[in-house]
Amino acid sequence: MPPLIFRKGLDLKHEVAGTLAENYHSALVSSIKEHDYRYASGRLTIHVAREFGFCYGVDRAVDYAYQARRRFPDRPVVLTGEIIHNPHVNEQLRAQGIRFLTDAGESVDALTPDDVVILPAFGVTIELLESLERRGCTLVDTTCGSVLNVWKNVKRYAADGFTSVIHGKYWHEETRATASQARHGGSGHYLVVLNREEATIACAYIRGGAGADRDGLLARFEHAMSPGFDPDLHLQRIGCANQTTMLSSESLEIGEMFRAAMRERYGEAEAAVRFRAFDTICSATQDRQDAVAALLEAQRMDLMIVIGGYNSSNTCNLARMCAPRLPTYHVAEPECLVSALEIRHKPVGARDEHVSAGWLPPAGRVVIGLTSGASTPDNLVEQVVRRLDHLVNLSR
Ligand code: SF4
Repeated sequence: MPPLIFRKGLDLKHEVAGTLAENYHSALVSSIKEHDYRYASGRLTIHVAREFGFCYGVDRAVDYAYQARRRFPDRPVVLTGEIIHNPHVNEQLRAQGIRFLTDAGESVDALTPDDVVILPAFGVTIELLESLERRGCTLVDTTCGSVLNVWKNVKRYAADGFTSVIHGKYWHEETRATASQARHGGSGHYLVVLNREEATIACAYIRGGAGADRDGLLARFEHAMSPGFDPDLHLQRIGCANQTTMLSSESLEIGEMFRAAMRERYGEAEAAVRFRAFDTICSATQDRQDAVAALLEAQRMDLMIVIGGYNSSNTCNLARMCAPRLPTYHVAEPECLVSALEIRHKPVGARDEHVSAGWLPPAGRVVIGLTSGASTPDNLVEQVVRRLDHLVNLSR
């Protein structure tokens, strides 16, 4: 029997709406929005970016997960991994008895037709999907429409004989899923480039000449290219795409770097038929980045707080935008604001959490900028605001 797949919810939206609001809504955040995205109390002023927090894709994924739990109260409900990159949201799902395939002791091989499996907002690889289908599991697919749009583009590249050059993190679930789509029946190829530095290496190879180091390229992209990738064959026709949550300005620049390399190698006319590009940054990511850029231009602030999971790509990129301009603290949860003297945070580019001292101005007016990633619920933002108020105004 073919597996049952729910792609448009499970007709229980109204039934779970109350629980979702209880778990993630914030009256304080609604009030801040109504007051020009500003919170003032004592010597503290907070300016909040005009777009922040849950995006449409995350909203939908979490909604479907709650619906799945409600619809199948007596069956095992399993997530293929984190539904989104926010520890608070994932803990709420665990508390409802939803299991995670990535946990120790869990395995796809142990799944049966009785299991209800939720696919996350960033999608899963074709291999995993086929494996779940073979096992006859009931599937609740929450893959975001913006991710599906990337897949459509890379599949078209493959069908037309183009290699997908994906600006993304090769280890990220979304990019792994996109890369599997770029294979398109096993015939397509892909190369994942993380940043300008990696784009420079790949572009040097395309240009050819003295800088082209085949072994160096293969070693550098060992984990970031399709099986059988041959740079002499598979960089002749390329199409650019990106993980939806990358830094938009960097993605555009990388696209232009590849376009220029192809022009240099093949000439203007030939490059026009050998190079394609689609900006696949999602609108929610773009809106949040634009809002942070506007906030940085509009306000003079002492520091910036960016709230979101440390493995959340879009949150990390919001912090990257702020860090060159003012002291920036990417925090995963309200408890990271340990005291007026100490904060736990992930510095831009660091792998682990650090502890910094003396992060709050000790006297006078304090103006703080605030934003949160697309997987951060408003109730966490509220807790951070309340904690800032306490630390600035009461704790001395
Ligand atoms: S960040 Fe963009 S692509 Fe990802 S779930 Fe949200 S809307 Fe969809």
